Amino acid sequence: MLLANKENALSLKLFITIACCAVTFGVLFGTGCARQLPAQPANVAASTAFENSAINDTAESEEDRAKREAKEAAERAKQEAAEKEAQRQQRIADLEAELNITKDFRDSFDHGEKPADKQKYIVLHDTEGDGDAQSVIDWWDSNGNLVASQFIINKDGSIYQCVPMDRIAHHAGYGDTGHNDQFGITEDGRDDMAASVPIGDWASDYGMNAWSIGIEMVHVGGSGDYPEAQLASLDKLIEYIDAYYGFESTIIDHKDWRSGNTDTSPEFAPYLENYKATRTHNG
Ligand SMILES: [Zn+2]
Repeated sequence: MLLANKENALSLKLFITIACCAVTFGVLFGTGCARQLPAQPANVAASTAFENSAINDTAESEEDRAKREAKEAAERAKQEAAEKEAQRQQRIADLEAELNITKDFRDSFDHGEKPADKQKYIVLHDTEGDGDAQSVIDWWDSNGNLVASQFIINKDGSIYQCVPMDRIAHHAGYGDTGHNDQFGITEDGRDDMAASVPIGDWASDYGMNAWSIGIEMVHVGGSGDYPEAQLASLDKLIEYIDAYYGFESTIIDHKDWRSGNTDTSPEFAPYLENYKATRTHNG
């Protein structure tokens, strides 16, 4: 019995030991499973959340980047426009200094407003006389016709201005009927048309003065070539007018506006073509 009891006791110890090991293993294993089972979904959830967060971050970044780039592009464009405008103003100042224009404005030559958005053409003329610019201005002011052009260029290249560029001068007069439409201009009432005298049904359009700058060159048709100094000044004056407006006005001559007119002269013809093509007399 004792032996049996000892054996029983040993068996009991062995059983308890095994049972404990089993319990311990079970606990460890169970705990491990318990740890593993919820851990996997947690990791998956965390990973998904991270990916979603990354996607959201990427989407926001792209949106922010697009906004930033648009803002930067707008700032660059604004800066470039400001630099371009500063360069234009500097070029205007430089050209004014180079041209050294003598200004002699007369009230009788002023026929209304000609703001920049109403400027389209530069009309070239000959004075058809040998008198210098100052005598031409005095003649215009005294004859009662109220005609003038904004600029006059002497043979030596010196330039006179007797009407501001933003005022209408009567230099082109009536043009061929239909030329208002052909040249894309209208008689919109800005030109007072004071002292204008109709010249016939064939030339009834009077729009050009209100849409142009007139430049007279002291020259008599058929008298020979234009001096280089006069042409060089015309080149620079056109450059100045272009800079002043910030765009290139279309260059024509008086006879383009009214057929049968004599100016500019035949000897100016090759220069006129060059001016129309390249804005300089040399082409
Ligand atoms: Zn003319």
